[in-house]
Amino acid sequence: MSFKVTILGCGSATPTAQRNPTAQVVELHGRFFLIDCAEGTQMQLRRNKINFQHIDHVFISHLHGDHFFGLIGFISSMHLWGRIKPLHIYANEKLREIIELQLNSSDSLLRYDINWHTLNYDGKHKLYDDKTVEVFSFPLNHRIPTCGFLIQEKQKERNLIHSKIIQYDIPIDQINAIKQGSDLLLEDGTPVPNDEITTAPPSTRCYAFCSDTIYDENVVKYIKDATLLYHEATFMHNLLERAKETYHSTTIQAATIAQLANVQQLVIGHYSARYSDTLPLLEEARTVFANTQMAMDGRIFEI
Ligand SMILES: [Zn+2]
Ligand SMILES: [Zn+2]
Repeated sequence: MSFKVTILGCGSATPTAQRNPTAQVVELHGRFFLIDCAEGTQMQLRRNKINFQHIDHVFISHLHGDHFFGLIGFISSMHLWGRIKPLHIYANEKLREIIELQLNSSDSLLRYDINWHTLNYDGKHKLYDDKTVEVFSFPLNHRIPTCGFLIQEKQKERNLIHSKIIQYDIPIDQINAIKQGSDLLLEDGTPVPNDEITTAPPSTRCYAFCSDTIYDENVVKYIKDATLLYHEATFMHNLLERAKETYHSTTIQAATIAQLANVQQLVIGHYSARYSDTLPLLEEARTVFANTQMAMDGRIFEI
């Protein structure tokens, strides 16, 4: 099953010739989640051939402009293209006021509903749940209230071994329980251990998104063992003091968090506009965490 992240923008603060500010689409089992929606998001969705109308859930990490200034345009375009189904937006409660002021000022009445969901900043909270996917928020440490997001596959059922179904003539009424991990009970009451008749499902995958944050090891417990971690690395490590002042992280700090959290792969992004060449940031992060990749606009990461 496909689980991939498309980077629409990986810059910070202001757009540059190479980079849009933060936005990305996570596609998992046919669901499309938009994370942050900076300026340029609509153009980037078009360039990357992602159908806007497939996006039903938008997660906004915080209310700095480089993470949401594209949202009103995105909402408006969906209306103009005839959207009817509701759009869910998960954000700080102030965003609703901002968007409604913009819509009311232009006398715009959307033909679809926006369902607003308010983020909490006091721990891990479940935002979305269906039969195969869960999305959680968790707090980050930035200048204003900020959340990261965790997109997690649910554990699948165990797989029955076909030859064992025939060998033991497994009755239909036991199959669901066996897929959940129960042993098979033969007619005479003899149990057959579950691991003799099933194989384990593929391990579940998890994507962790840490947008703007100062270096803070408190985040580690939320993102532990993630398959892929996106963590901001706004600065090279020689600008550590600047990172602290602005509540951002350096390459070395992002890589240290990846190491502490035991993630499989790290993607860095949210680069300061001062870096036209981001390769040195990648190289520096890899000195601490070898399996690091660098976000670039339009780049896709398979999970
Ligand atoms: Zn930012
Ligand atoms: Zn910020």
